[in-house]
Amino acid sequence: MAESPSLIRSSAAELYDAHVLRNYPRAPVTLVRGKGTSVWDDQGRAYLDFSSGIAVTSLGHCHPHWVAAVQRQAAELIHTSNLFRHPNQGELARRLVGYAGPGRVFFCNSGAEADEAMIKLSRLHGVRKSGVEGKCIKVICAKNSFHGRMFGGMSATPKESVQKGFRPLVPGFVFGELNNLASFERLIDADTSAIFVETIQGDGGINPCTSEFLVGLRRLCDENNLLLLMDEVQCGVGRTGRFFAFEHAGIRADAVAMAKGLGGGFPIGAMWVGEGAADLFQPGMHGSTFGGTPLACAAALAVLDVIEREGLLAHVSRASVPWIAELRRMAADYPRHVLEVRGLGFLVGVQMASDSAPYAAALRERGLLTALAGVNVIRLLPPLNASEAELARSVALFREVLSAR
Ligand SMILES: *Cc1c(COP(=O)(O)O)cnc(C)c1O
Repeated sequence: MAESPSLIRSSAAELYDAHVLRNYPRAPVTLVRGKGTSVWDDQGRAYLDFSSGIAVTSLGHCHPHWVAAVQRQAAELIHTSNLFRHPNQGELARRLVGYAGPGRVFFCNSGAEADEAMIKLSRLHGVRKSGVEGKCIKVICAKNSFHGRMFGGMSATPKESVQKGFRPLVPGFVFGELNNLASFERLIDADTSAIFVETIQGDGGINPCTSEFLVGLRRLCDENNLLLLMDEVQCGVGRTGRFFAFEHAGIRADAVAMAKGLGGGFPIGAMWVGEGAADLFQPGMHGSTFGGTPLACAAALAVLDVIEREGLLAHVSRASVPWIAELRRMAADYPRHVLEVRGLGFLVGVQMASDSAPYAAALRERGLLTALAGVNVIRLLPPLNASEAELARSVALFREVLSAR
């Protein structure tokens, strides 16, 4: 008699050990199912998921409107390539232009790809500005930034752990101090084409740009004919209570990269380009086979529908205030463990006094999933529809871990 398949099947841990590239430090947990803010592992344990797949599952898991939209589109037409039109891509571009302002949208599949598109845009602006190719290529970024793992974004990410082993890098990137406008201004010369920053550094440990700094960057760009390129891959699409985090500062960007939360879990990235630079890309100059498929755009449209119908921007703005206040009270009660709580909306970093990995493991054992960032930071990234009770529960679980140490 044949053995039942479940008996001969290897465990997920064994399969990873044997066959998956070892490029991630992975938690020893196998997740198999999700609903709302909860996920379950293969042992049937439930977790409150405040990692959200690194700010990706913006509606939580399996939101009924999102599931219905994806199922409907999967049964109708999944992929066409960009050689043809599909109504979903045009509609999603229209909706994003509605949030970002007059301009055009390029679709891709990830944050890194959206950032690469912005870096290529900066090169085209440099050619327009100087009249020569390869001269005006300088892009000013911030120290401690993270712009993805491809060659352009990696070169804009001045972190040894990201760059080591992969040099030579793409030339042209220079780095100022976050929130130090003079340090950016000093780096501008005739060969500078753009300033490229995250509105709130995510991977670097939840470090927000101040409003004054962003207003200053906008002014420097206007005075020196530079593009202001905003990386909103992590902080965008509602995570801070505004659609784009830089809206808090009242500024406009020349181009914006989006990805993580945009598809609610389905891979999609986008670059919005404002009117002044949207025509720099002409047919044949850039592309992506999978960019903006009917299915990916259906997922993103469902995310925007739910953000709008359920009033999630207002919810994040409102519910985050007492939540962050509670986290700060917790920090004050445990000064030996917690140094600071930073962030905005549902993008929060808890700065621990020492290695944050053991705290994240202890939180996980108590049923709260988080993500690490920066130096000793625990990132809390609830789905945008997390309830006040769930937010309060995350603080209670965090307090349990701290009081046990
Ligand atoms: C995650 C992230 C990226 C890279 O996105 P991927 O989808 O992982 O390629 C780029 N920029 C920022 C700010 C990010 O948080």
